[in-house]
Amino acid sequence: MLKRLSSNSNFSKGLWKILNQRNMSTSKLDASKLQVTRVSQKSQPKPNDQLVFGKTFTDHMLSIEWTMEKGWDAPVIKPYGPITLDPASCVFHYAFELFEGLKAYRTKDGKITMFRPDKNMERMNKSAARICLPTFDSDELIKLIGKLIEEDKHLVPEGQGYSLYIRPTMIGTTDGLGVGYPDRALLYVITSPVGPYYKTGFKAVKLLATDFATRAWPGGVGDKKLGANYAPCILPQLQAADKGYQQNLWLFGPEKNITEVGTMNVFFVFKDSKTGKKELVTAPLDGTILEGVTRDSVLSLARERLDPKEWEVNERYYTIYEVSERSKKGELVEAFGSGTAAVVSPIKEIGWQDEDIQVPLLPGEQSGELTKDVANWIAAIQYGKEVHGNWSRVVADVN
Ligand SMILES: *Cc1c(COP(=O)(O)O)cnc(C)c1O
Repeated sequence: MLKRLSSNSNFSKGLWKILNQRNMSTSKLDASKLQVTRVSQKSQPKPNDQLVFGKTFTDHMLSIEWTMEKGWDAPVIKPYGPITLDPASCVFHYAFELFEGLKAYRTKDGKITMFRPDKNMERMNKSAARICLPTFDSDELIKLIGKLIEEDKHLVPEGQGYSLYIRPTMIGTTDGLGVGYPDRALLYVITSPVGPYYKTGFKAVKLLATDFATRAWPGGVGDKKLGANYAPCILPQLQAADKGYQQNLWLFGPEKNITEVGTMNVFFVFKDSKTGKKELVTAPLDGTILEGVTRDSVLSLARERLDPKEWEVNERYYTIYEVSERSKKGELVEAFGSGTAAVVSPIKEIGWQDEDIQVPLLPGEQSGELTKDVANWIAAIQYGKEVHGNWSRVVADVN
C-alpha cells in the first residue's frame, strides 16, 4: 500500500523512511495471534422490528493496538465496552480518525457472508495512509472481522433487508498536544444488527441543491472516510431540513457540478428525446467523490446487464443546470443515491434556486424503474440467491 502510495507521490527518502518504518520493520497485523475473551453470558437477539440503525451492538468487539516501535500487537476479541484514553489523545484534538461501513448477511443456505470486504479494506488503508495512521494487511483484518462475526453469529438477523452492519474504526492515541504524526493507534471493530433502511418499501426523498456549503474540494480529503469530513455536513443538512428537504445535493465549483447526496453517491438517468437512448450517469472519481463500494457495484452491474443498444453508462461531470434543463425537456427519467446503509435511495424532488425540479417516479410508486432493478440485483447477490464473482465472502456457518 505504502509502496504504491510513495511511487505515485513525491515522497522524499526521509518521509519514505518514517512511513516505511511503521510497516516494514515492525510486527505485521497477524490474525493467527488472536486472543479471545468471551462474555460470560450471550445476549438474546432483539426482535427484528426493534432494530434501530446503529443503536444496538453485539456482545463482542475486535481491538488491535499499534505502536510505531513494535507495530501491530496481538488482536483481541473482548466484550463490547468503553475505551479509556488520555484526554490529550490526538484523536480528540486533531481528528486522527477514520472509519469504514460494510455489512454481513445471513443467506438462505445457513451461511453468513460479507459483501465485497476487500474493497472496504483497500479504502480503509487509503484513509489511514492519508492521515499518517498505520496501514495493515487487508486479508488479515477480513479474517479477524470474520472471527468477530462468528462469535456473535446468533445476533446476525435473518430476513430480506436485515443484516449486520460492521464499523471498523481507527484512531490515533498518542497523548500530547503537539501536532505531529501519531506513534500510537487503535484499530477496533464493532458490529450492529440492522433492519431495512425503508421499513415499508422505498420512500423517495427531497434534496436541496447545496452551493452555500462545500463537502469536498480538489486536493482535499473528500474521497477518504475520515470522521473530520462528516461533522461539518450536519449544519447544512439542518439548514436543508429547515426548508423542508431531507438531504443536501452537494454541488461543486462555479459550474455547479453534482457530486454526492448527503453521505451517498448519486446517479441520474437521462433519456435523449431525439435518439431515445438512456444514460446512467454519476460523477467521476476525481478525488472529491467518496469511492463508494455500492457505486462501483451499481456501475459494474449496469455495464453488465443494461442493453448497450438502449443504454450508456457514464462517469462524467454533469451540473445542476443540465438536470434542470433536461427536466424541462422531459429528459430526466430518475435519480437515486447509493450507499451501504440504504443500498439505493430514490429521489423525487430537487430544490434549486426558485424552482423545484420534479424527478419522475413510477406511477403510484416511490422509485423509478432502474432504481428498483438495481436494488433487486444487489439484494439477490447479498442474500446469496445469486453468485457474482467473489463479491460475497463466507465468514461463518450459522449452525
Ligand atoms: C460511505 C460513503 C458513501 C458510500 O460508500 P459505500 O461504500 O457505497 O457505502 C458515499 N459517499 C460518502 C460521502 C460516504 O461517506
